[in-house]
Amino acid sequence: MTKPRLNTSVEIKDSLQGVPTPTSVRIPIPGKLKPVVKKKQIVGRGQVIAENPTKSAYGVGFEHASIDGMVEDILPDAILIGPIPASKEGEEAPVPARPEPCAELDSLAGEDLCRKLMELGVRTDRLHAARTLIINGLNPEPGVLVSEQLIKDAQDTLKAGLQLLERAIKPGTVKLVVAAGKQLSLHGCTTVTASDAYPATIDPLVMLAATGAERPDNVDIISISDLYRFGRVAETKLPLTEAVVTVGDKVFRVPTGMRVQEVLDAVGLPYGTEWKIALGGPMRGETIFDLGVGVPEECTAITLVPVNLYPAVQPNPCINCGECVLVCPARIQPGMLSRYAEFNMFENARSQHVGACLECGMCTFVCPAQRPVMQYLLLAKGQLAAQDDMVSTCRLQD
Ligand code: SF4
Ligand code: SF4
Repeated sequence: MTKPRLNTSVEIKDSLQGVPTPTSVRIPIPGKLKPVVKKKQIVGRGQVIAENPTKSAYGVGFEHASIDGMVEDILPDAILIGPIPASKEGEEAPVPARPEPCAELDSLAGEDLCRKLMELGVRTDRLHAARTLIINGLNPEPGVLVSEQLIKDAQDTLKAGLQLLERAIKPGTVKLVVAAGKQLSLHGCTTVTASDAYPATIDPLVMLAATGAERPDNVDIISISDLYRFGRVAETKLPLTEAVVTVGDKVFRVPTGMRVQEVLDAVGLPYGTEWKIALGGPMRGETIFDLGVGVPEECTAITLVPVNLYPAVQPNPCINCGECVLVCPARIQPGMLSRYAEFNMFENARSQHVGACLECGMCTFVCPAQRPVMQYLLLAKGQLAAQDDMVSTCRLQD
């Protein structure tokens, strides 16, 4: 079996590219957002379609229409927007209402600015005022090129994002973490180098590399993709309506919610039953079985893997070989924890620190029994979180 290389840094040869605007989109709506449009409503690009009901300045960003069109359907997890139907004879064609650039963006600061950014579609829940801010400039996974592509091609946008964050949270220090040996920098940041070998590229390990501390207080971390999103809003003063994704060996700006199949058609990549396709990278991405799903705003890659390249994971028994323990960056025992989850012993998993799992996928990757090790741990974490929610709801009702 060929194992992929786990280094993430690459030489970026091509430029950031665009794709033709699609005539319909399926925009994923995170669970916390509430749709504010109705079926058959005409919407303009940039119009709010789902709001975050919180009054806070920190949370998941609002969703906006990424094309002009008509709301075709509102599903529990997505809003479908299609072409505006032709108007009947004698009737005036409806005009989609696109928002004007936000004039007050330049004068806001602090929490007011964070709130406005959330309304313009950027998530602000990873930000806190006056902390050290780390910008993770490492490509997140092998084969996912977005970070180094954006540092190469979007310096002005990233600079605009940094200036916006200066006003929003006044960070004490800003550190940019890049792969050792790379001459990459960003105006106003102290550059720190770190290993580019996955999983050293995931946020908790980048924080450790940049500060020397595990889970340090007073430190926030965002990715280059996050910074780019702040920068796009700063530059355009308009809501965020695009994702930046690696597809094959190139990086594309695509309208949020563009269907995966249309993206693959636009970039000329083959797909079919001989390919597995995931939203996200090869280690942490989620396999999709419907190519009609839309690309979420925070997606960093559409990954294609030949079906026969790796044997499928199955609920095979653990042979207690310890391979997963050797690679686990969280220093927990994935094999044992996966067995607890497999047999519904979730409290045992809690007491053995399943919560410390960093969700890097290395345990599944190395498991010779092809067990879905990380997926078992995710199951345990999900069950425990649901259980805790239920307990706190009951307590509130007492
Ligand atoms: S996914 Fe597996 S290897 Fe990674 S931190 Fe969690 S238990 Fe450890
Ligand atoms: S690598 Fe797989 S088989 Fe080996 S201990 Fe971990 S879960 Fe069990």
